[in-house]
Amino acid sequence: MDNNFDVIVIGSGPGGYVAAIRSSQLGFKTACIESRKTLGGTCLNVGCIPSKSLLNASEMYHKAQKEFDSLGIEVDKIKLNLSKMMDNKNKSVLNLTKGVEFLLKKNKITHLKGKGLIKDKNTVQVSDKSGTKNIYKAKNIIIATGSVPTSLPNIKIDENIIVSSTGALSFKEVPKDIVVIGGGYIGLELSSVWKRLGSNVTVIEFLDHIIPGMDKDISSEFLKILNKQGINFKLDSKVTNVNLIKNKAVVDFTHNKSQIRERIECDKVLVAVGRKSNIGYDIKNLGIKLNNKEKIQVNEKFETSIKNIYAIGDVIDKGPMLAHKAEDEGIAVAEIIAGQAGHVNYNVIPAVIYTSPEVAMIGKTEEELKKENIKYKIGKFPFLANSRAKVNNETEGFVKIIAESKTDKVLGMSLICSVAGSLISELAIAMEFGASAEDIARTCHAHPTHSEAIKEAAMAVDKRPIHF
Ligand SMILES: Cc1cc2nc3c(=O)[nH]c(=O)nc-3n(C[C@H](O)[C@H](O)[C@H](O)COP(=O)(O)OP(=O)(O)OC[C@H]3O[C@@H](n4cnc5c(N)ncnc54)[C@H](O)[C@@H]3O)c2cc1C
Repeated sequence: MDNNFDVIVIGSGPGGYVAAIRSSQLGFKTACIESRKTLGGTCLNVGCIPSKSLLNASEMYHKAQKEFDSLGIEVDKIKLNLSKMMDNKNKSVLNLTKGVEFLLKKNKITHLKGKGLIKDKNTVQVSDKSGTKNIYKAKNIIIATGSVPTSLPNIKIDENIIVSSTGALSFKEVPKDIVVIGGGYIGLELSSVWKRLGSNVTVIEFLDHIIPGMDKDISSEFLKILNKQGINFKLDSKVTNVNLIKNKAVVDFTHNKSQIRERIECDKVLVAVGRKSNIGYDIKNLGIKLNNKEKIQVNEKFETSIKNIYAIGDVIDKGPMLAHKAEDEGIAVAEIIAGQAGHVNYNVIPAVIYTSPEVAMIGKTEEELKKENIKYKIGKFPFLANSRAKVNNETEGFVKIIAESKTDKVLGMSLICSVAGSLISELAIAMEFGASAEDIARTCHAHPTHSEAIKEAAMAVDKRPIHF
């Protein structure tokens, strides 16, 4: 095999495999290195895909138990078969990872199996499982090594009782009591899964609200909804210790303001306090510049501090740690290497929490605009007044659109709705085209759909909603 490539991508997550495919489309001889057994990175193996499979299956189970009867669907006995649910999840993961394998082959990308180590700006060593080391040369190297879960200083994840999201995606039995440390999106999605399947779930969050960075209106409504679903919250509280006693964990935490100490005994502890960039010692040895959070610093062309070495995805100091952000960067970086104008608009990256109802947001929050001293108008519309949501018995939540006072240009939107994750794309397109709230208000939306609530919220920016 010829070991010389135009582009070598390290990592096959949504950033890496997309960068490899786009590079190959642009005529580059490309290789993609992956140390994991299957392709697709965190997203496909232990992230987006398995979590959404369990969210979907557990929601069906919950609905069959609690909602079917009122719809006139009588089911005799509903029984959970967790191992079958897990098999279904594993099958979906396998299918999708095989799909990436197929795409690499189709695009004539060389799949190098093993751990990639950058030796210098044009050389990568790949060590496979057997210990064999091979050297490859590349004109350009793209680092797409992603991220790994973090923990708190005094808490050691054992993936048995004290687990990361990876462990919480594969419990063999439904735990009776779970403590989730961290009220971010990963913690809340997995809280929903296990609550629906029968666990008692308590979320302990350091801040006095859930989902940092989310619009406060949405965050407090979301908290109310999750509380109603039976998830317990201990906000404004710091976990000080987790001790293992036999097959149980004892979680100690202190309320930040009152300093009152509490203790919960549970079967599993999910540590969901964030993720850190996956930086190998080669990156440090080469002196590639990192920021103070140990993320790779890149410029607007995704160039690191070493020429011809680029970085994208969770590993860099730009944008949120999300799969679609990594994918867009993968396309942009390949186009930039090809001399084209690859670009990612970090102001328009949607974020979705796939609970029930879903939560989605894009652009600026009200709090950010206040800080930036930008004058804005708000339009809100509740799903209680949306006909489709009403017939589906999905009336929780609302849409909130924020537009600039003077120009009416849409600056952001947040919403809670059963299909928020799909609806947010409308706003992504609107914002990319620089739409005003009036543009959305004057656009015909199909009836009866949840999307009509977006049109109504846009009309509410000008204080003229029809159905509320
Ligand atoms: C539970 C969970 C749920 C999530 N849900 C969502 C969601 O719904 N939507 C969303 O947008 N995002 C979600 N994410 C985040 C998403 O998974 C990440 O943002 C995304 O995977 C980042 O892509 P990436 O390509 O940068 O890195 P990764 O997907 O982390 O891929 C990096 C790959 O590089 C490989 N690698 C690392 N070092 C080397 C090396 N030296 N040599 C060879 N290979 C190497 C790793 O094995 C890995 O496969 C979720 C994450 C988790 C944990």
